[in-house]
Amino acid sequence: MKTETLISSATHTPGAILLISCYELGHRPAGLTRPLRALEIAGFTPDTIDIAVEALDVEKVKRARFIGISVPMHTALRLGVHLLQRIREINPDASICMYGLYATLNADYLLSHGVDFCLPSSVTPQPPLSGGQDRDTSMQLVGLVQSFVDGKQVETQKTGFRTAKLPPLETYAQFEDNGEVRTVGYTETTHGCKHLCTHCPIPPVYKGKFFAVNRETVLNEIEEQVVEGATHITFGDPDFLNGPMHGLRILRAMHEAYPNLTFDFTTKIEHILKHRKHFPEFAQLGCRFIISAVESLSETVLTILEKHHTRGDVEIALDIVHGAGIALRPTWVPFTPWTTLDDYLEILRFVDTHHLIYHVDPVQYAVRLLIPPGSYLLNRPETIALSLTLDETSFSYTWTHPDARMDELHKTVSALVENDARAGVNTLETFYRIWTLAADIHGSRHTPLDFHSKDAHQPAPRITEAWFC
Ligand code: SF4
Repeated sequence: MKTETLISSATHTPGAILLISCYELGHRPAGLTRPLRALEIAGFTPDTIDIAVEALDVEKVKRARFIGISVPMHTALRLGVHLLQRIREINPDASICMYGLYATLNADYLLSHGVDFCLPSSVTPQPPLSGGQDRDTSMQLVGLVQSFVDGKQVETQKTGFRTAKLPPLETYAQFEDNGEVRTVGYTETTHGCKHLCTHCPIPPVYKGKFFAVNRETVLNEIEEQVVEGATHITFGDPDFLNGPMHGLRILRAMHEAYPNLTFDFTTKIEHILKHRKHFPEFAQLGCRFIISAVESLSETVLTILEKHHTRGDVEIALDIVHGAGIALRPTWVPFTPWTTLDDYLEILRFVDTHHLIYHVDPVQYAVRLLIPPGSYLLNRPETIALSLTLDETSFSYTWTHPDARMDELHKTVSALVENDARAGVNTLETFYRIWTLAADIHGSRHTPLDFHSKDAHQPAPRITEAWFC
């Protein structure tokens, strides 16, 4: 009964569709903006709530007939499942669709716990994974949301898109560099990824494919946000250099239209080396920093994660990026079943030696490997040997480290990072406290101050939101 009426005229009444975003790393969520645009073009008038920055509006929930909840990452999924119970209490009759990467990976659990549809986050619209609902009547709406999540059906002409519905850009994380503050807009030029890193949630969904978003679509999104006040754009592609010329053409057009606009993007170490000739141009076009998932310096761990880079490659990448005048912000997964205490200390030593303390958010030193359902890591012999079990409620396989000191270190570092963040402790101080902790557990005599002077570390450009999972 619920889904039979979805595409009826009642669905076109204002607020009959409600889109909710749970969390997208502190930027305005693409999981809202693109489906919202799609639905408006198709003649619907949806409501939106971004619970990362807004309270849950009970009246919006009550009047909705179809509620889409965007869960593109693990944190968002945990929030989304909590929200689901509340929404069901407020409006038991609404059809609920979860969409985004983690809806796909955890569809079995979600569909048996109150979600009517889970959308695969692939560019090819597909039917809901299961659900036993009236698929014909629901497919149009569900497929519409999906295709716009992927940016596929966004028209190239201006659409009168009502950003006024969304929280202002100033509500979200800002760009910051040594006192310089910029309002951040967000877009993506591609979906998916052509690489198959085993720990990444993208390969099980996209299976080594990536898709370009229409250039005009991206430029329109940038223009809309510049009009709103954006002075910096984050390109949130999983890897901006999967299609380097597509990205470069967009950057050139963006720079021509808005010469003072700055930007950041994410790309893998391998791509930095492969496309090194473009970095001076990236800098000239306004690139201020690049995020790259280094994850580890251990050959063993990098092999298991199938990252296709080495510690030496990371050093070359640093030279390329910093040589062009752009900051490289490495991200890490320092806690895996295969990372030793020596490996952990080596990451700290590397960060210190390369003057990267301000290039790494302290939370990075507490990141623990997540192994979601469907993860390619489950196919690795090293993981099979661990005989892991899935904890459905935490949406991840559970593991403990063979060296109990690593699990202890993880708990202690996590608490330290959280407390320091709450107390506003300087990144440099937090870094040295983490090192002292790790060195104590290790029984090392050397503290970081033996190696480098604090003055060698200079603040680096960043987005004021430190969470990356
Ligand atoms: S970690 Fe990066 S490069 Fe590897 S599969 Fe994921 S998005 Fe692609």
